[in-house]
Amino acid sequence: MELHAKIYIAGHNGLVGSALLRLLRSRGYDNLVMRSRQELDLRNGEEVKAFFDEESIDYVFLAAAKVGGILANDTYPAEFIRDNLLMATNIIDSAYRSGVRKLLNLGSTCIYPKLAPQPLKESYLLTGELESTNEPYAIAKIAAIKMCQAYNRQYGTRFISVMPTNLYGPNDRFDLNDSHVLPALLRKFHEAKEKSLPSVQVWGTGSPRREFLHVDDLADACLYLMEHYEGSEIVNVGMGEDLTIQELAERIQRVVGYEGDITFDTSKPDGTPRKLADTSKLFGMGWEPAISLDEGLTSTYLWFLERQQVAQV
Ligand code: GDP
Repeated sequence: MELHAKIYIAGHNGLVGSALLRLLRSRGYDNLVMRSRQELDLRNGEEVKAFFDEESIDYVFLAAAKVGGILANDTYPAEFIRDNLLMATNIIDSAYRSGVRKLLNLGSTCIYPKLAPQPLKESYLLTGELESTNEPYAIAKIAAIKMCQAYNRQYGTRFISVMPTNLYGPNDRFDLNDSHVLPALLRKFHEAKEKSLPSVQVWGTGSPRREFLHVDDLADACLYLMEHYEGSEIVNVGMGEDLTIQELAERIQRVVGYEGDITFDTSKPDGTPRKLADTSKLFGMGWEPAISLDEGLTSTYLWFLERQQVAQV
């Protein structure tokens, strides 16, 4: 990607898009195109087509998505499948029609079957049933992968798909109903410390295992793949190691400095028992993450504290 190439980051205000924006700016890319949700409704095909026709975009990072944690996925299944299918279809098709040179489509490791062997290899896609809590979201993400592959095959496009594991970092959502586990627990422990509460409630049994990747590492991997990867096959991005939700809670407890107890609310769902990406394909290409979980938790907690102070001024 040339430094002056026109690069569109779809979803630049989100967790992933904002990390891509920080990284591309810091590397000297100076022709970045962005549109807020108010300026461009990515669910509207006509608007998206007109935008691509007008802008003559060279490269696309498709980081726009309706995302949320286990409860949000379970509560708004229609919105999760509809919005994600519409956004991906509109962007991928308009990218092809307007002659975009390369597109990177962001998926998720929830595309893999619920009971697939661990770690999750790219080849396990569509080999079994999905986890029911996020099936609508996963189906939309799988459709986007298949669309990129079909366009590559029929139209000769260069659309690649990247599957990140659970992500966290600045600009994540910290509201308790919609967020993923890591930001939710950072906030719960922080508030319990502020209010001197006796305990913090963690959902589920604490035994599911998850892998967490700092979003700045993901952005770095995306840029690396945009520059070095040409295949239609999907590529996982992860840390290569996981931990239980209970262990995660204990680490966050330490980072926040909370001295009360941890309890488990087993009326809440556990979701997939384990989700660890097999990253041998990407690591084999020469890329590795740089941010350890403890470093990432500490910097994300500091970001959260700063943002809270700004909100209080
Ligand atoms: P998932 O990775 O798609 O299952 O999504 P989440 O990040 O929302 O949840 C991961 C795991 O963390 C599940 O087993 C949840 O039950 C558990 N968990 C524990 N406490 C919380 C919490 O406060 N919020 C969320 N979202 N999940 C929690």
